[in-house]
Formats: sequence, C-alpha cells, structure tokens
Amino acid sequence: MQIQPTSPISVPTPCYVYDTALLARTLDAIKAQTAGHDNFHVHYAIKANANPKLLGLIVDAGLGADCVSGGEIEVALQAGFPASKIVFAGVGKADWEITLALQKGIGLFNVESTEELEIIHSIATDLNIRARVSFRINPDVGAHTHAHITTGKAENKFGIDMTDMIAAIRKAEAMPLVDFMGLHFHIGSQLLDMSDFEALCDRINELQIILEKEGLYAHHINVGGGLGIDYERPTEHPIPDFKAYFDTFKQRLHLREGQQLHFELGRSIVGQTGTLLTRVLYVKHGHQKQFAIVDAGMTELIRPALYGARHAIENLSAQARMDSMHDGEVRTSPTETYDVVGPICESSDVFAKELSLPETRRGDLMAIRSAGAYGETMASCYNCRPLPPTFTTEELFQQP
Ligand SMILES: *Cc1c(COP(=O)(O)O)cnc(C)c1O
Repeated sequence: MQIQPTSPISVPTPCYVYDTALLARTLDAIKAQTAGHDNFHVHYAIKANANPKLLGLIVDAGLGADCVSGGEIEVALQAGFPASKIVFAGVGKADWEITLALQKGIGLFNVESTEELEIIHSIATDLNIRARVSFRINPDVGAHTHAHITTGKAENKFGIDMTDMIAAIRKAEAMPLVDFMGLHFHIGSQLLDMSDFEALCDRINELQIILEKEGLYAHHINVGGGLGIDYERPTEHPIPDFKAYFDTFKQRLHLREGQQLHFELGRSIVGQTGTLLTRVLYVKHGHQKQFAIVDAGMTELIRPALYGARHAIENLSAQARMDSMHDGEVRTSPTETYDVVGPICESSDVFAKELSLPETRRGDLMAIRSAGAYGETMASCYNCRPLPPTFTTEELFQQP
C-alpha cells in the first residue's frame, strides 16, 4: 500500500485504511480460479470484516455471504447480498436469529447440533416456512495452527460428530418442514498447508460413500473457509494462492452428479487489504528495552493479544526520511530494537516484541499490515476509547 506520511491530508490515527484496488484484484483472482465451474459457490465470511465499504465490492463480484449471527444476516442483506446466497452457521443460534433467517429466506442453515435442529423445526412449524438445512460435521482433521483458531478436531464445540451424521440426517428427514440439503465443514483458519484441505477432501469422500450406502444424497457440500495469508511478507504476497487452494478441491474431491460445492472464505479475501495506521506517541527508553508506544492498541487490533498473532509493522515516516535524503548520502538509517506497544491498560497490549525498526521518533506514522481480517470487526471500546475511523485508499488519495 502506498500510504505516504506526507500525503496532503492528515489522517486521524489510529485508523483503518482499506486498499480497495487490492480487494478488486483479489476478487478477480477468485473469479479466475472458479471460472467454468458453475457448481462452485464462494461465500464471503462476514465476520472477517463487515465494513460496508468492502461489502459493496464483494457483492458486486457475485459472492454470497457466510453469516454467524442475526446481526450479520442483517448487515449482509443491507449490503445487497441476495438472501438465497446467505448461509448461516454458529453453535448458538438464538430463536430470534432463526426466525429472522427463516423470514428473510436465507439459502441454508448450517446446523451444529440435533438440539438446534429441533428448535429450527419448531420455529419453522410456527411460521409455516420450510427450513433448508445442512449439517456441520466435525471431520476430525487437524489443522496445524493456533489452538484457538482450530475448529476441526474431535473435541470441540463446533459441529456434529461423524458417527452421529446419519442419525441427524434421518431425524431431519422425518421433520415435515425441514429439508436436508447437505454437509458443511470448516476446519480452522490461517491454513497455508494444502495437506489440511487434502485431508478434508479425503474425509468428505469417505462420508459420501457412507451416505450412498444409506441411500442419502447431499445436494450441497460446503468446505468452509480457512485459507491463510502471508502475514510476514504482505508486500510480496498481497494475494493468497487461490490456484493451489481451488485446485486441491477440483482434483481431490469426488463430487457426485449435480452436487454444488460451497466455499466460505474470510481472511483470504480481506486480510491483506487492511492496514492499521497509528502514530508513535512516545519512545520510552527503559533499562533493558526501548518501547515505541503507539496510539493504536488491542482495542483496534486484538489479534496479537488474543492469539499471539504477528503483523508486519513499518515505520512510514522513517522510510520517508530516508527517501528524502540527498543523493550522495547513504540511504540507510541505523536500525534499533523496539517493543511496539499500545496505550491500553493490559500487559498483553503488545503488537511486537524486539522488533528491528529504523530509528523511531515521536509522531512517526506506522503501518500495521495485514489487518483487514478480524481487525476492525473485533475492535472494542475498552478504556472508553472510540471505535477507529476507516478510509479506503480512494478516499484518502482523492481528497484535494
Ligand atoms: C470464520 C468462519 C469462516 C471463515 O474463516 P476464514 O479463516 O476467515 O476463511 C468460514 N466458515 C465458518 C463457519 C466460519 O466460522
């Protein structure tokens, strides 16, 4: 992203800046990989980023929406996603959320327990509206990622155990106002190793054989999301490897005649498009360490505090100082080591430890990269801080 600290407008910090041109290129890359596969349906996982400035572009690209709450269904409808292209997952769907989803006519419920199925059926009966239902099956395939963002292993709250799959489907088929439509899976997030998705394909192939033996047919197979992004080198890898991702499913999954294949991508669509801009408030010299204390904190971006996530951090002002040096001068600045920390009253409010940065001063503008997914959507008002303003690159650069 070409954000210059010397750009004519002064950005209020902390703020999120979204690179809409990169989002457009990312969506084009997805289109290129799914072209010619009319049975492929990509849903955008709203929880990654619900900013209307981004949702409009995603709607225009023809994607559906993956929602995990009634609020997300409302946001998706407002943004223009057709109800028929909305899928609704979540282990704790409240009655009002189920009612809303039925009344709005969403495409599919991804049901996570038979207890939930019963409530959906009872509400559908009260409303006299048919409920289209897929079951989220826990495929027990491990994802080599942080424990808190792994969802596909045997022992967790998500989904229905494989051994209970047939019983759940039979139960649904006996319900007059429920239509069993298919199977749903989601194995985790920030997955970069295609072998995780290969393992998922192998598992789905096994489950399809079981379905066939029982005389059952799943119209829809939903493989969830989880494709990761390069947090270390966002400039070199702004667009995830969608070819490797979609090829895995094209080659490894044995779909039956007429089956529709759904994907629910969140992070991989918006992650690299967002940058959190922040200014250095103080450079504090401790006895052992130097701290760059910035005006953004875990209230704007909680991923580092919540799951030890790392984001590339750049000091844009120091880069600009270097670039403005006269020819003849050596264009390098001595690097120093800083802990980059926020202002929040929590010791976990740390963006980076012992980070090598050019010499950093009060007032410097810093870019915290790859913050487009699970950044703004997880922002909070802790410490009575206001939510951060957001800009698109167009908005920033079109101003006089
Ligand atoms: C969060 C979530 C996704 C999106 O995950 P990403 O890692 O952002 O791609 C997809 N499906 C379900 C059910 C989810 O909960």
